[in-house]
Amino acid sequence: MREKLIEFRNVSFRYGEEEPWVLKDCSFSIYKDEWVAIIGHNGSGKSTIAKLMNGLLFPQEGEIYISGKIVNQETIWEVRKEVGMVFQNPDNQFVGTTVQDDVAFGMENRGIPREDMIKRIDTSLTAVGMNDYRLTEPHRLSGGQKQRVAIAGVLAISPRVLILDEATAMLDPKGRMEIMNTVSNVQEMNQISLITITHDLREVVQAERVIVMNEGVIWDEANPREIFAKKDKLREIGLDVPFIALLAEELKKKGISMKNEPLN
Ligand code: ADP
Repeated sequence: MREKLIEFRNVSFRYGEEEPWVLKDCSFSIYKDEWVAIIGHNGSGKSTIAKLMNGLLFPQEGEIYISGKIVNQETIWEVRKEVGMVFQNPDNQFVGTTVQDDVAFGMENRGIPREDMIKRIDTSLTAVGMNDYRLTEPHRLSGGQKQRVAIAGVLAISPRVLILDEATAMLDPKGRMEIMNTVSNVQEMNQISLITITHDLREVVQAERVIVMNEGVIWDEANPREIFAKKDKLREIGLDVPFIALLAEELKKKGISMKNEPLN
């Protein structure tokens, strides 16, 4: 049985007493080293889930556990050590004047010894394929490269979970591909749990499990193949199954398999 890293138990949340509930009785778990994609159209509650996972918000009802510890005001700093986040806008995430300064910044805040920092800068930039850019000024990087550096900055502080909240939304197709490849490498190398939040079904293909959100409730939870099989129902909640997945299914019916089966 895999270790449970994050558990939502009957979580409901709203942004104020007069506001509508944006999460309603949500229960799910994320296990050690797995890759879970959380998908849903805009406003379905995905970012709110991410913010609850690292104590930026607290639920009015239900409980959230990270590594078995309940998330509240007292445990928030311990929780944040375990949960690293990368957000949508690559330009809002830089503080350093060079790539390596930037990766160092998060570690300095956590009092990591200098010797150790140098080693961690090296391993985390290598993990995202950006070690050759250590001395580059961040503003010279492409969007995809900036997000890779942001991922390295999080990896350097060794969290147990990495959350990417729409981290590809502002990138061009090349940048998006770069991030999806990086994420998949990182997951294999670093023994880290990964949560990718997206409104784009193309980005859930590689995940082990998919949680589909709709209007604040968990609409479904299954592997990508099972989720894609519900294409008509997905369309009703504003999600389009990627063409490549439809094609693979059609070919399979005819007994033809694709060389790199997208859903295996
Ligand atoms: P998603 O990430 O799926 O787009 P969000 O979690 O951002 O969804 O939003 C869920 C709902 O909460 C939406 O209806 C949104 O308008 C509302 N919401 C998000 N942030 C706030 C806020 N700071 N104050 C009030 N309502 C908010």
